[in-house]
Amino acid sequence: MEIKKKDVRALTKEQLRDFFKKQGDQSFRGNQVYEWLWQKAAHSFDAMTNLSKKTREMLEANFVINHIQVDQLQRSTDGTIKNAVRLHDGLIVESVLIPTDTRTTACVSSQVGCSLDCKFCATARLKRMRNLNPDEIYDQVVAIDNESRLYYDRPLSNIVFMGMGEPLMNYNNVLKAIEKITAKEGLGMSPKRITVSTSGVPKIIRKMADEGVKFKLAVSLHSAIDEVRTNIMPFNATFTLKDLRESLQYWYQKTKSRITYEYVVWDGINDTQKDIDALIKFCKFAPAKVNLIEYNPIDEGVFQQASDTAITTYVNSLQKHGITVTVRRSRGKDIDAACGQLANKSGA
Ligand code: SAH
Repeated sequence: MEIKKKDVRALTKEQLRDFFKKQGDQSFRGNQVYEWLWQKAAHSFDAMTNLSKKTREMLEANFVINHIQVDQLQRSTDGTIKNAVRLHDGLIVESVLIPTDTRTTACVSSQVGCSLDCKFCATARLKRMRNLNPDEIYDQVVAIDNESRLYYDRPLSNIVFMGMGEPLMNYNNVLKAIEKITAKEGLGMSPKRITVSTSGVPKIIRKMADEGVKFKLAVSLHSAIDEVRTNIMPFNATFTLKDLRESLQYWYQKTKSRITYEYVVWDGINDTQKDIDALIKFCKFAPAKVNLIEYNPIDEGVFQQASDTAITTYVNSLQKHGITVTVRRSRGKDIDAACGQLANKSGA
């Protein structure tokens, strides 16, 4: 019977050092391998050219590197690039590169599918198949960094966890990936350039605050009225706005980091003065800014983007109360790469 080999990237540096010691070799080989795996993002043991052939064969005999593979790359007319990423077990996730004049942002996935059931999101229809491992998240970032250098002649500058899945439902692996992304022995990126976006899992938001994480937090709010929010984001029945609000107040107390609320205004759903007033009130609980995002239709269904007038009313009312608000246009719509459109439709 063939023994299933372990993915070498599940090992810490210490474990790698121990492994070499047990093999009767020197433990610093563990550091070399670790550097190849993370800093140099090697796809194979053969690429580790400062190791002897014997050592590489020994590694090959003991471990695998379950690297992701970019199966298909689609480019939008606005410069956005979408990767269909094949995982070692054949499942597919998507990640997106979003270039602007000054920055390149990677939008990465944290789960295959999603366990939440947001009525306006295409990913929700896939259901959750599994969590991504830290290295699968890391690999998406490396792939986009490479593409950024290749197509835009500059490194990746920002990362948002706004791809498929709910990052806080896979928190440990997301955190491990971020540790590698920010480590000197990884990509060395500043955590301030990373935003984790969540539908709002109060328990984990508190845990993050306690751990003193340095990345930014965005919350997909969409409504500050329980009844409305539960209708469009059913898990709000369990994780209510009160719980969410308290966890966000705790987050701000601990981190002093301002929260971003992502918010789509839909016709007939959250476009009244009552909705605006509730949002204004919610914004007073902890320092926050509001990002009004454009709705990307996922079918002919009940959700329609509200009129420009409704959006202007939102903007004016929020500003009148001293709340920073930005209106974000979608990118990559022609290749189904915009928010909420990631649903593995590329056929890869
Ligand atoms: N689960 C996480 C991250 C993924 S969604 C979260 O909920 O934050 C990334 C963002 O896209 C969220 O703000 C989400 O509410 C939004 N979104 C989902 N479907 C959308 C759609 N069809 N049009 C516009 N934004 C959408």
